[in-house]
Amino acid sequence: MMIRGSCLCGDVAFELSGKPHSLSYCHCSRCRKSEGVFAAVLIGSAEDFTLVRGADKITRLEPVAPWTHARAFCRTCGSALGEMQAGKIYVVAASALDDDPGLRPTAHLNIASKPAWYEIEDDLKKFEGNYVPA
Ligand SMILES: [Zn+2]
Ligand SMILES: [Zn+2]
Repeated sequence: MMIRGSCLCGDVAFELSGKPHSLSYCHCSRCRKSEGVFAAVLIGSAEDFTLVRGADKITRLEPVAPWTHARAFCRTCGSALGEMQAGKIYVVAASALDDDPGLRPTAHLNIASKPAWYEIEDDLKKFEGNYVPA
């Protein structure tokens, strides 16, 4: 199974092989500002991540403590790409996916940081902080 992803302008494209570990929503202020109201975050094994094109188009915003996750985005169109490869895992913005990753979201993370004007209206698990479901 191959899951394709790309940015809005198409300069950056990636492929994910194998089954991702998790799909969750993150409501932290950094995801809100970089990806919208919240971010849908897909996580899997780093070895399953392949950058197809656009290495020279990707800009990374490195985290300043206490933050730990870098932000990759296409510098032509601004599309959020997630952290992409991050040690032993990949963390990609599910908003960049062109294919169905197969699994469905299981949780809302960092809900303590969500804006007051956004209400979560489903029954998925909710975590005040940054818990990533296994
Ligand atoms: Zn782009
Ligand atoms: Zn977040």
